[in-house]
Amino acid sequence: MASDPRLQSDPSPDGGLEARLASVRSGISDAARAAGRSADELTLVVVTKFHPASLVRELAALGVTDVGENRHQEAQAKAAELADLALTWHFVGQLQSKKARQVRRYAHVVQSLDRDSVVDAFAPTESEPEPPVIDGFVQVNLTDDPGRGGVQPDDVDAMVERVLATGTIRLRGVMAVAPLDEEPRPAFARLRGISERVRSIEPAATDISAGMSGDYADAVLEGATHLRIGTAITGKRPVAP
Ligand SMILES: *Cc1c(COP(=O)(O)O)cnc(C)c1O
Repeated sequence: MASDPRLQSDPSPDGGLEARLASVRSGISDAARAAGRSADELTLVVVTKFHPASLVRELAALGVTDVGENRHQEAQAKAAELADLALTWHFVGQLQSKKARQVRRYAHVVQSLDRDSVVDAFAPTESEPEPPVIDGFVQVNLTDDPGRGGVQPDDVDAMVERVLATGTIRLRGVMAVAPLDEEPRPAFARLRGISERVRSIEPAATDISAGMSGDYADAVLEGATHLRIGTAITGKRPVAP
């Protein structure tokens, strides 16, 4: 929508939001072709954390349907402000169990299920006996550093069982962030193996969320279905307020 004046005001040398989005979309198509896959199998989740709701609105005007946020208060405010848009909101950040029930009110997908207490918080309670069902991914830690978030590969099966036991989370698959100190592709290959294990427990949990701005082509080669891309589309993130 080049006639929208807001989209022409971006002075960045790479042509602005519309050009960056087009460039990532064609990069995704190229990656899919190289992997012998169809780009239709891939969901682009644009990670808009730290950016204002106005940027999310511009993205929606450019055809973006899925957005990702990693902080509850910011996500809640943006989802409320943009309630007129039919966006699918993905929560991709560390979640506190006491916030889980609030996240469920605006997010359609929680990609960062990684602790018993968070998963349990989605279960029905006396005050909310029939809560809405939300889509979920179990986040896997592909490093030895517990600070990076996610469950260790050996603990994934137990976490999957726990998610299924809630009855309120539709398990979609696994999610991970590539390690910082390793090539992404072998790490994504490990994630793919874990995904196969998860599918042997829950055949419907076929999705793999992996791949960010710098490594999404590798993720596509290793079977990713959801790409969480921020800066390559939005440009540099503003400093956290
Ligand atoms: C910020 C973030 C992304 C996007 O990262 P970019 O490098 O900006 O593409 C993806 N996944 C998670 C979990 C994030 O927090």
